[in-house]
Amino acid sequence: MTNPLLDHLLSAPLFIPELHTDDCDDTSCVRCRTLTPANLYEVDTWLDNRNVFTKQFTESVDGELIVTGLRIGERPNHVVAKFGNTIVRHYDGRHTVRPTDHPTGELSSAQWNARYPIGTPVKAYPGVYGEDGFTTWTTSRAWTLGGHTPVAIVENYSGGIALTHLDPIEVSS
Ligand SMILES: [Zn+2]
Repeated sequence: MTNPLLDHLLSAPLFIPELHTDDCDDTSCVRCRTLTPANLYEVDTWLDNRNVFTKQFTESVDGELIVTGLRIGERPNHVVAKFGNTIVRHYDGRHTVRPTDHPTGELSSAQWNARYPIGTPVKAYPGVYGEDGFTTWTTSRAWTLGGHTPVAIVENYSGGIALTHLDPIEVSS
C-alpha cells in the first residue's frame, strides 16, 4: 500500500518550504532564517547547536550601544547578520548572509523617534499582536530595552511595549 503524500515527500526531501524564507531557491541551502530582534535568541541557539561560534553584534546608535545583529563564526572568517538579513546554512556547513527581499519592517528606536514624536496615536497590543489592542498614544520616546528590543511607553498601560506591537494611527490633518 502506498501513501502518495509520503512518496512525494520522500522523493523530494530537499523541498521543505517552511524552512526557507524569501522564496529561497538556493540549492546549497539547508535552511535559511531571517534574523529579527524577536528571534535573536532562538537563532543564536540554532547556531550554537551546530557548534557555530556566535556573538551579539553591537553598534553605537545615537550614542547608545545596542545590539543590531549577530556575528557568526570565528574571526577572521566570520560573517555579520544584521536584523532583517537572512542567515543561510549551507550543506557544507558554512553560513552566509544575504539581504532580505522582504524586510521585516521592524524599526530601531532611533528610526521610530525620527518618524513618530511623543504623543503619536497608536493601536497598542501589549500581549499577542493583533489581539485585544487598544487605541492610545505614546508618552515616551522609544528606547532599546535590554540592548535588543525597541520599546515605547503609552498612555493607560504600565511598562514599555515593543514597537512591533504598536501600530501608529495615520491621522489626516
Ligand atoms: Zn533557504
